[in-house]
Amino acid sequence: MTMKETLKIAPHVGILGGGQLARMTAEAAIGLGVEITILEREAQSPAGQIVGADHEIVGHWDEMEKRQAIADRVNLITLESEFVDAEILQWFVDHGTPVYPGPATLRIIQDKLKQKETLAMAGLPVPRFRPVRSTAELLEAGEKLGWPLVLKTRRLGYDGHGNATVAGPSEAEAALTRLLGPVERRHASEGSYDLYAEAFVPFVGELAVMVTRGRNGSLAVYPVVETVQRDHICHEVVVPARLPSAVSTQVAEIAVAAVEAVDAVGVVGVELFHLADGPILLNELAPRPHNSGHYTIEACRTSQFANHLRAILGWPLGPVDLIAPGAAMVNLLGTRQGPANPGGTAAAQSFDQAHLHLYGKREVRPGRKMGHVTALGDSPEKALELARRAARCIVW
Ligand code: ADP
Repeated sequence: MTMKETLKIAPHVGILGGGQLARMTAEAAIGLGVEITILEREAQSPAGQIVGADHEIVGHWDEMEKRQAIADRVNLITLESEFVDAEILQWFVDHGTPVYPGPATLRIIQDKLKQKETLAMAGLPVPRFRPVRSTAELLEAGEKLGWPLVLKTRRLGYDGHGNATVAGPSEAEAALTRLLGPVERRHASEGSYDLYAEAFVPFVGELAVMVTRGRNGSLAVYPVVETVQRDHICHEVVVPARLPSAVSTQVAEIAVAAVEAVDAVGVVGVELFHLADGPILLNELAPRPHNSGHYTIEACRTSQFANHLRAILGWPLGPVDLIAPGAAMVNLLGTRQGPANPGGTAAAQSFDQAHLHLYGKREVRPGRKMGHVTALGDSPEKALELARRAARCIVW
């Protein structure tokens, strides 16, 4: 433990970002007696509303003065997004503020190609992939991996922005234009495109596991969940995944090995594909609390947010068992553009066993994550039905 970490009695954690993940982490922090300060570009962010103005630094981590301001206040730093440049995390470490998960982990994860290479090198099952630096390499990838394939940007992709499914060579140009801009604009970078291609995975379902890994390598592995994506955005989560127990065990083992391969500390969302004939492939890792783990707030003995804090603070991890036979989470996604003014909030709260969360976002946009509902039930199916009923009450 560094001097800095022993200085303060109440631990004080800095979060880079102030969105819903920081907000729910701050909620968990209250119960644990942990102080939170956020660094976030916009005032009155989802987390800013919870921590209050004296714990909110408004600005960007690119600004040295803001970085210094948060470093001066906290014992350690964590993140709610994998997009903070690893070099900025390194700056905090070099200036005496530990960061969990650390810069080395982020350096791997924030480059999806490097992430895939690291997982493959560790002997873990991933879809076949190849770097794509030029138009010719995209066509070659199609020959080697087969069409269709999924073309992905190596950096900064989220909710499917940064992905394009390419059915065949005739669609190559359109996919490159979608991800990199029109041919005139990308001409100069031909040969150094920051892309890679993945074999299209004909999965029957998508799975996720939240893995918490402590600073000393201790592990707490949440149950395997089923996730339902539409238009590349997570819509629903059902837990426990309806899988033979041997498959769930295998999924959990792969997830733990993946987290260990990148040496992550804190909670990690591990996304996987489940293929029809049995095999499991890793999709990607998110080194932070994750949408597929929101259900843990009500459905598990320790939430992903509380366990994330416990992990990064070097505390013992909490038990992660489900407290009901089934649980489900339904995201509340925006359906229009404009000021947010959710209706039906009272109706949505009229169900026993269904829990409404709103993130306090001021603006609604189509597809924007505005909140979620978690329901518990006697079975995953019953929980899902209830979560959907409660979620349907909310109108944007
Ligand atoms: P993001 O980081 O933007 O969430 P992902 O790479 O996880 O992007 O992809 C988003 C979704 O796209 C996945 O959840 C899955 O539904 C689909 N997808 C991604 N990669 C593949 C693939 N290789 N084969 C088939 N579908 C894929």
